[in-house]
Parts: sequence; structure tokens; C-alpha cells
Amino acid sequence: RLHNDVVDLRGQIRVSIRVRPKLSFEDGSSTAIQYPNRNAIAFDQKQSFEFENVFTEVFSQKDVFASVKELILSCLHGYNVSLIAFGQTGSGKTYTMRGGSEDKEEHGVIPRSVSFLFEESKKLESLGWRFEFLMSFIEIYNNEPFDLLNKHQKLKIRLASNSVELDGLTEHTVVKKSDVNRLLEMADSNRKTAATKCNAHSSRSHAIFQWTVKAEQEKTGISTTSVLKLVDLAGSERAKESGVVGDRFQEMTHINQSLSCLQKCISLQRSKAAHVPYRDTKLTQCLKDCLGGGSSKTMVIVNINPCDENVNESKRSCEFAAKMR
Ligand code: ADP
Ligand code: MG
Repeated sequence: RLHNDVVDLRGQIRVSIRVRPKLSFEDGSSTAIQYPNRNAIAFDQKQSFEFENVFTEVFSQKDVFASVKELILSCLHGYNVSLIAFGQTGSGKTYTMRGGSEDKEEHGVIPRSVSFLFEESKKLESLGWRFEFLMSFIEIYNNEPFDLLNKHQKLKIRLASNSVELDGLTEHTVVKKSDVNRLLEMADSNRKTAATKCNAHSSRSHAIFQWTVKAEQEKTGISTTSVLKLVDLAGSERAKESGVVGDRFQEMTHINQSLSCLQKCISLQRSKAAHVPYRDTKLTQCLKDCLGGGSSKTMVIVNINPCDENVNESKRSCEFAAKMR
């Protein structure tokens, strides 16, 4: 492995908060949230939470990326890494992970990571390393995984002791940014078509951008395989329980189960519990190799809607995150 001097965060979970700005059409008040200090967020001057970073609305996509760069980079050094966006629908998860597509400043973690990893791998190649990158994109809807880069084919998961195998998942070799952009467009269009077919919405499924790194040191012949997973979770909001029936009820149940299992797995593996229930949901199965254990690193970004009318969901999101630490 390279760079042992990189802050070693193996087996650790870090959690940051990001509160998005109010949008132009949101005209209610937003006074419920306060920032007692740089790393804290409080609600109604009472309940206060501390996190690694608290990004208020003044922080840009670049600022947020700067805080995760080292983590992202470590996938080139043989670590499994996951970065997970959590929050209610409309809180900014997709903006954080993907961002706007027009203005470069608006690009989110995924396009920035891709450019960054291409650049950094070039530097390492001059030191005799060779890299191969394989991209996949998975959607989990109603506890079923699908391949977003192969006509939304249903996938089967096999869990080995140290790895996760998704039978049938396509892995696409990418050598430049435009390869990735083409695949992202394909994923978006497959996701949209599939959602339309079953009258669903992308905010009710999880999306996992997967980037496999095969590295080889030419001189020694030593090679490693590692993976980076960038996850845009389904909306965490509690639906109004009364009156939710049929398909929406099923969606809601699967989302609640997978999110609470994710929280459990993260906190149990942190406390080195003997049993961590990865197997309980497809989401945690898919993320198992990146969620803990020896050489993986995890970061969660909790996205928050700034409006007072959402303050209860925002508090719930912070409580959810606090339990993972
Ligand atoms: P989610 O994916 O959690 O449902 P989105 O990422 O779609 O939420 O964000 C909801 C809206 O808020 C979108 O119009 C998005 O462009 C905007 N938005 C989210 N975060 C920011 C931000 N940090 N700065 C500016 N606009 C944002
Ligand atoms: Mg979204």
C-alpha cells in the first residue's frame, strides 16, 4: 500500500451534515436551525448535535468535495471506501452526489471523484503503478437490486466472507471522463424508464455508483483490487402512515427497513459486535465490503432541508446520524 501517512481511518465512520440553501420558491421561515459552533447544529436552541463537519448553506460543492478527497483517494491505495448521502426527499442528496450538470462549479461528488481519480492515477503511474477502473451503477428498489447499466436487469447477490458478488452485474472499463459521462446518462435514462413503468419515483430507491480499482505495481507485480461506492439513498422521510396503502406502503416499508438496518450495521461494526446483520437487507448486503471491517472507510453526509416546516424530519435525520457514531 502507498501513503501510510494518509490519516488512517480504517474501520471508522465519519458523519458530516450539509444544510442546503433555501430555494427561491420556498417562502416560509427558517429560524429553527442554529449553529452553536463550527461542528454543531442545534434545533430551537435546544437539541444540539456534533459532527465531523457541519456545512451550512454557504459551503460550495468544492468545499464539500475538499472534505472527502482524502477518503476518495484511498480507493487507489487499496481501501474499500463508501460515501453515503442520507436525508429526506428534497434535502440535497442528489445535488451533493451528482450536482448540476451545466455549470462545472455545480458538479457533485461523483463527477469530481472521477476527474480526481483519473488525475491522481496518472501521477501514480509515473511511480510504476498501473490502474484499471471499472464502473457499475446499481439501483435498489423494493429490496431488489437492478443493473442501471444493463437495461435495468434484476441482479442476484452472493455474499462471500470478504466480498460481495452481484451475479450478472455489468462492469464497464472506463479510461476517460467522457466514458463515464456516457454511462451516467445511460443510468439516468434506465432509472427513469424503470420508475415510470411501475409508477415509482427515483427518490424511493437507492442508487449505488460503484468504481472498482485494479492496481498493479509493475516492479513487484503486487496487485490489489478495491472499490469505491458512492450512494444516494432513498428519501428517509416518514410517510404519513395513515392512508398509505398498496405499492407506496410496500416501498415505505422496504425503505424504513433498509435505512434502519444500515444504521444498525454501521453502529454495530463500530462497536465491534460479534454479529452485524448485513444480510437483513439488500442495501446492507451490497455495501457490506465497504461498511466496516479491516480495511474499509465510510463517510455519511446527512442532508438537511433548511425550512422550518421540515424541522422534525431534520431533527430525525440528525438523531439517525448521531446513532451511527
Ligand atoms: P434529494 O436528492 O435529497 O431529493 P435534491 O438534490 O434533488 O434533493 O435537491 C432538491 C433541490 O434543491 C434541487 O432543486 C437542488 O438543485 C437544490 N439543492 C440541493 N442542495 C443544494 C445546494 N447545496 N445549493 C443549491 N441548491 C441545492
Ligand atoms: Mg434525489
